[in-house]
Formats: sequence, C-alpha cells, structure tokens
Amino acid sequence: MADLRADYAIVGAGSAGCVVADRLSEDGAQVVLLEAGPTDWHPMIHVPAGALHLRANPLVNWNYYAEPEESIANRSLHWPRGWVLGGTSSINGMLYVRGNPADYDGWAQMGCRGWTYADVLPFFKKSERYEPGDTQYRGKSGPLLVEDFRTILPLTHCFVEAAQQAGFPLTRDYNGAVQEGVGYSQMTRNGRFRGSTARTFLAEARRRPNLRVVTKAVATRLVLDGSRCIGVSFWQNGQDNRVLTAREVVVSGGTVNSPHLLQVSGIGPAAHLQSIGVAVRHDLPGVGANLSDHFAVRITHRVRDEVSVNQLARGLRLVGEIGRYAATGRGALTFGVTTAMVFCRSREGLESPDLQLLFTPGSYAPNGIGRLEREPGMTLVVCIARPDSRGTIMARSADSLDRPAIRPNYLSAASDVRALLAGTGFARRIFAAPPLALHSAAETMPGADVQSDEALTAFLREAGTNLHHPVGTCRMGDDPMAVVDSRLRVRGLEGLRVVDASVMPTVTTGNTNAPSIMIGEKGAAMIREDTSAFTSAGAAPSRSAV
Ligand SMILES: Cc1cc2nc3c(=O)[nH]c(=O)nc-3n(C[C@H](O)[C@H](O)[C@H](O)COP(=O)(O)OP(=O)(O)OC[C@H]3O[C@@H](n4cnc5c(N)ncnc54)[C@H](O)[C@@H]3O)c2cc1C
Repeated sequence: MADLRADYAIVGAGSAGCVVADRLSEDGAQVVLLEAGPTDWHPMIHVPAGALHLRANPLVNWNYYAEPEESIANRSLHWPRGWVLGGTSSINGMLYVRGNPADYDGWAQMGCRGWTYADVLPFFKKSERYEPGDTQYRGKSGPLLVEDFRTILPLTHCFVEAAQQAGFPLTRDYNGAVQEGVGYSQMTRNGRFRGSTARTFLAEARRRPNLRVVTKAVATRLVLDGSRCIGVSFWQNGQDNRVLTAREVVVSGGTVNSPHLLQVSGIGPAAHLQSIGVAVRHDLPGVGANLSDHFAVRITHRVRDEVSVNQLARGLRLVGEIGRYAATGRGALTFGVTTAMVFCRSREGLESPDLQLLFTPGSYAPNGIGRLEREPGMTLVVCIARPDSRGTIMARSADSLDRPAIRPNYLSAASDVRALLAGTGFARRIFAAPPLALHSAAETMPGADVQSDEALTAFLREAGTNLHHPVGTCRMGDDPMAVVDSRLRVRGLEGLRVVDASVMPTVTTGNTNAPSIMIGEKGAAMIREDTSAFTSAGAAPSRSAV
C-alpha cells in the first residue's frame, strides 16, 4: 500500500482516542485513526450485562497478564484491555465516575499547569449529557449519555440504607458537589445499550470524508526525522504500511501500549532500550515508569430472603429477563457491575477519600469475575483508590508485536495494606447494619473467622485483585521523569503527543473511563489551540489527501 498522508494520525480508538478523532476531524483536518482491534460487531459489547462475557474474550480483548509478584502470593493477575473500536470503553463495567476534585488539584500541584479541577470541569461537561444533574457540575448536551440505573434491585436500596446507618452520609451525585458518602451508580449507557466512545463519539464522525478509521491496524513504530515525529508505521493484513503526518501523531494506545510503542520506537530509558536491542532515538527515563493501579479485595455474603443477580442470570428467570430486555429495554440485562458505592477516608487527617467501596447485588466464583456463583450472593469490593505502590511496563524486546512486561508491584507500599484493612472494617460495619444484615446468611469471603490484621493481610495478598484502572506510564509533568508536558507533548520531541490514561500523574479516586474521556477532550482542544496559534503565526497547514 502507498503511504497514507494526513494532518494527524491517532494510534488507538479507545476511550480517549475516539474523542480525539471526533474533535480533530470536526474542522476539516485530515485524520487517520488506527485501531489494532476489529470493529465493534460483537453483540455482547452492546448489551450492558454482556460485559461479563467480554472479560477474557480474545475477539475483543488484549488479555494481558502481569508478571507474578511476591507481594500478592506470586500470582499473575489478568489485565483485560479492549482490543476493538471503543477500546476498553467497549468492554468495561460502564460506571461513570469522574474522581475527586482534589485529584486534579493535586496534579496541578505536581507541575501539570492547566489541570486543576476548575480547569478540567468544562471538559467533563463538554462530553456529557446527564439529565438529573446540577448544571454547575454536569453537562446537558454532550454526545456521551450518562444515566442512572434503569432497574434497581431491593438489595441495592438495603445497601444504601445500611451504609448510612454505618455512618456514611448519602451523596445524591458523587460526580457533583460532594463525592464523599454513599450514592447510587451512574453509567455510560444509552437506554438499553452500552455507550462506548466508538458509539458516542465515532459513529457520527466516521461519516466525515476527512476521517479515515483503519481497523486491524497495529501501530508498530513511530517514524522520526531527527527530533520530529513525522508519522507512524503500522501492520495490517501481514503488510507494513505508514501514515505520514503534516502536523502530529497522537498516541492513544492506553497505559500498556502507549509506553510500549514509544519504547520500541527508541523513546524511553536509554539503558533499558539498549539492553533489549532498541536503538535509542530519545532518552526519556520516565517512559513505562510510575505505573499505578487500583487494587481491591472482595467481601461476599450469601443472601437470604432477597433476589440477587445470581438467580436472575440462570434458568427460567434469565429467559424472563431476556424477554423483558427485548420488550422494555429494562431489567438485569441493563446492569453494569456495581449498583452503588461509598467513597470514604481510611483515616483521619486525609484531605479527600482514599477508599472506594463498590456494591454488587451478586457474587462471583472465587477464581474470578467472569462467572457468577450458583447460590445468591452480594459483594462489596474494597478498593484502595489512591494507592502509593508504583510499578513499570517495559518492552521485553525490539519486536513491537512482543508483549511488554507488566510489573504493578501491588501492595508493595505498606500504606496500601493499611488502607485496605481499614476499608475491610468499614465493609463489615455496613454488612452488619440491620438493612443488609437482614439479608445476609453468612460472610462467605473471607469468612467470619478471618479477623486479625495478620489473617486479613494474608487474605489481601492471596485473594486481592486488580480493578483494571492502570494509569501513569507516560506521566505528565515538568520534571525529568515526566514523559509529556502539560499540553501532552512528548518532552524533547516535536509532532508527538500522548493522550490517554497513561498521562495521569496519579490514578483518580474512582474508575478511570470518565477521566480518560476528559483527557481526550482536553487533549484535542489543546492540539487545536496549538495548531491555530501556529497557523495564525503565518505557516499554512497542509491539507493532504487521505
Ligand atoms: C474489565 C474492565 C472494566 C472496567 N470498568 C470500568 C468502569 O466501569 N468504569 C470506568 O470508569 N472504567 C472502567 N475501566 C477502566 C477504563 O475503561 C479505562 O481506564 C479506559 O478505557 C482507558 O482508556 P484509554 O483511552 O487510556 O485506553 P483504551 O480505551 O484501552 O484504548 C486504547 C486503544 O488503543 C488500541 N491500541 C493499543 N495499541 C495499539 C497499537 N499499537 N496500534 C493500534 N491500536 C492500538 C487498543 O486496541 C485500544 O482500542 C475498566 C477496565 C476494564 C479492563
């Protein structure tokens, strides 16, 4: 194939990449969007409850595994990542959680100019359409529909009541004025269907003649001319191809793949690149460092005298739910994983919550979240929302199709263990409150006999799991370990930005899809601003045919 030519090439059609493609192609710029995975044809993507079937499905999922780690009993945890249009927003749990204002103010204090909560709020609002919310905080006319649950099982109401009785005040909108407390979940769902970024941002944009979306196209190398990035090579149908760019390459491959693409292109820590046989083009020591992820532990109870998702997911009841979904677009098939949640502080003196407790009126087989238990159950996931542990993602070889080594170092910071122990205590307090205790037959995991800090710590290490919110491997900042500057430009190079979850300096207090979409919005706005500043200074941009 002859080289493609464009103003912008975007690598990765995920949560952030689809937003960038939509916004950059709005004003006629020629844009090529490369996605390694296929189109989002799989029906389970679009039925919300289908998420369980995508958790390890190789048709839409990269299915990474982290390296085994002593800190978690030598286990190697599964790292699902979307490999499909929409990226991880096409396979995730659809929770819409922006994080705490203090997260963004903290980023600004760490050297990210223009990223305070006041700075990012307009970009959250720009994307979103949430009918019930306060207009001071919530968007009303964006493409991304955010909705409350359509059907709420009584167990969830019992949880919300129990949490209040246990001392956690009700917050009516955890994405609004107050995050802290207990609240009902909000979802990126459009009626009966999942609201992936492919469906919300790309569906319309794809009709534009100046946007070309290329699927099953794996970016293999960035094309550098001295210190300027002028394009990207990609592999499709067994052939090498290139997109050459007049303006910029935007890498939106996510927290695993963005640093990997930079590294195999010779951009990263020089000593490591040399050790794996990659010619160093630009020594940037922070690429692949600063990996941060949410680690959590599940507390489960056997349910009595109430219906849990476990019963609705099998036999005649499932047939009924399928009929209900087909006829009304309601019921269990519209559920995401978590129906309500608590944000709280593990100890006094913290400025903002560092724990997220996520309630599901269902329970999963002990070996994973892909399968529901046969018996009725309910689960409270205790998550360390602002972990101190840090890890790395590093290329193993110069082969760009070789998978990188993922080393999260879960629970390597003692403070993370302490916070999770406190959170486990809060979870037990909520389960013991009468509205929920009434429906608990027994604690099934870890079990009532696991009480001492020592026994609970062993449980965290042996049974704890990741919540799939890795960030930080192309960290934004202005210090030598920062990979991108506050305008998301790769430091020391021209024509290259990273725009996705990997730029977050720290993980946000909550799930990471909404922040990734916001980064896509803000990143695209900055690219457009910088281009118009450049063109108004006299240089004519190319309008090369795609
Ligand atoms: C199972 C699961 C459940 C989750 N649940 C929630 C939830 O309920 N709520 C929430 O807020 N967050 C959730 N998350 C996290 C959230 O979805 C992610 O943080 C977010 O989607 C990350 O966005 P991103 O743009 O950084 O990357 P992604 O959305 O992963 O996009 C990266 C894209 O780049 C493509 N790509 C990568 N490398 C290349 C290459 N070399 N060439 C071409 N294309 C490439 C990938 O295929 C992918 O499409 C969940 C994650 C998982 C895995």
